Order: sequence, then C-alpha cells, then structure tokens
Amino acid sequence: MKIPDTQIPIIEIPLKGNIQLFIKREDLIHPQISGNKYWKLLYNINNYLDEDPTNPSIITFGGAFSNHISAVSALGKDLEIKTLGIIRGEELQSKWQQNPTLKFAHENGMDFRFVTREDFRDKEILTKNLEIEFPNALIIPEGGTNEFALKGIQHLLNSDTKSFDYLCTAVGTGGTVAGISKFAEENQKVLGFKVVDDHSLNDSVLKLSERNNFELIEAHDGSYGKITDENIRFINDFSEKFGIQLEPIYTGKMMKKVFELIEVSYFPENSKILAFHTGGLQGIEGANEMLRKKKRDLIINRNAL
Ligand SMILES: *Cc1c(COP(=O)(O)O)cnc(C)c1O
Repeated sequence: MKIPDTQIPIIEIPLKGNIQLFIKREDLIHPQISGNKYWKLLYNINNYLDEDPTNPSIITFGGAFSNHISAVSALGKDLEIKTLGIIRGEELQSKWQQNPTLKFAHENGMDFRFVTREDFRDKEILTKNLEIEFPNALIIPEGGTNEFALKGIQHLLNSDTKSFDYLCTAVGTGGTVAGISKFAEENQKVLGFKVVDDHSLNDSVLKLSERNNFELIEAHDGSYGKITDENIRFINDFSEKFGIQLEPIYTGKMMKKVFELIEVSYFPENSKILAFHTGGLQGIEGANEMLRKKKRDLIINRNAL
C-alpha cells in the first residue's frame, strides 16, 4: 500500500458566532477504503508484505455492516491478496447477499465464515484456531487497532492541522483517537466521541497514546449502531446546508454532539475546531435498508444520487 499523495481538503462549516468549525475530508482518501481505515491498515499490511509471505492472505473480523470488512476486502482486491472475513451472526449465512456491505466484500473476492455472537465474542480462541489453520495469514483484530495503526493515523495530522485548538474524531475501538492524541501538538486538545458504550475505552486509549491531552465524550445514543430519528434528521440537514455527507454510526453522531457542545458554550470563545471525517459512507445503504423495512425516514445519500 502506498501513502497516497492526495491533498485532503479541510472545509469550513460556516457558523454564526465566534467559534470556527472545520472538517477534514479523510472520507476522500480512497474511493473504497475510506477514512481512518486506510491509515490504520497501511503499515500493518506493508509490514506483513515486507516479510514476503508465501500465499499471502488477510483474515479479519467484523459485523454485517462493518466499514473495516469493506475496507479490507477492497484492499485485498487492489493488492491481489486473498481475504477472509469472520462475520458476526450465523443467521447471515443464508442471506448475506441481501447485505450491501457483504455483497461488496464478496465482489472484491472476500470469503466469509459466519460465527455465532457467542463465538465471535471470544476472539482469543477464534484467533488461535485461525493461526493454526492459516499459519501464513495476517490476522488483523476487529477495528485493527495496534501500534502500526497508530503510526498510520499520524498521517491525519500535518502542517494544515497545527493551527486548530481542538481535534475531534468518532471513537469505536479507540485507535484513531489514540493516534491523534499521541501525535497532536502540545497546545491541542483532542476530543473523542464515543459511539460505543464502553467504559474501558479511556484506559485503553491512554495506554496507547501515553498522553493526557484527550477527553472522551459519550455520543452513542444508547448503544453502538443505534440510529435515532434525530440522528437521521441531523445528517440530512447537515448535507443540505453544507453539502457534506455524514453517516449514522460514527461521523453523524460525532458532528451532532459537536454542534450540541457549541450550543452549550463548551468551547471557549474564538476556538478553532477541526473534526475528522473518518469516512464510513458505505454503511448508509445498509442502514437505509433496515430503515426502509421499519418504514422509517431514510438517510439521503448524496453519493448515490
Ligand atoms: C472505524 C471507524 C471509526 C472508529 O475508529 P476507531 O479507531 O476504531 O476508534 C470512526 N469512524 C468511522 C467512519 C469508522 O469506520
């Protein structure tokens, strides 16, 4: 994998008042491997390929709508490497063709194994068995958070991001916020918006970043993956007003919370805020399928227009 020479734009979200808000469009990094997933995978995969493995293959884990599964499958296609996705939920075995994320991954050549939620939770046993079965494979943990991932996340930061007082990102496994925290400037404050209800995240991020410049803020609306009507309205309003597409699992929840914090004067006057658009737009289609079945309002998908 190459370090792309794409110049990632930073776009101002015009607000009333004296707070300045900008969004860095990491969603534009690659048409299929979007946002933070590209950076998290970059050094992991290069390190593996540098060892010149025989019959290289990549194995990883994820849920039915996983941005990570989608990204790994697209990479496998790009690099002409076999990929295997260990997917949560046995019931998908018979109907994965109806899931846009898994369909896309399959078209990229990914094989699947569907496991029960119970087995999926026990990653240690799963991983051990896979190591025995596929001794040459690169096994990437769900979310792909490790030292190499942090090194990749450093690329989110550059000379353009130095002038901001606050750096904001959505938090799943915490690798992205840890990398931003680790490599932020001395005077920058890092805000991570938790889209999972996980109280161990603070400790795991601290362990990786080894700095106390970050704060984690709840933004999960109850649980990971929950999509409220308010969330949908916010995403649709945001895209109409500012012409930027967000998605309901990560970036929509982060941005909504950022707006709420601005509203309650969380940020000091004249603060300059940068929010990272970590991508994940592939998930909109799957979310809309679910919403359509429940006869709920849909997310307007500018990318699909
Ligand atoms: C995976 C993902 C995140 C969270 O990244 P972590 O490093 O796991 O915290 C944020 N935004 C999007 C769009 C993602 O796909």
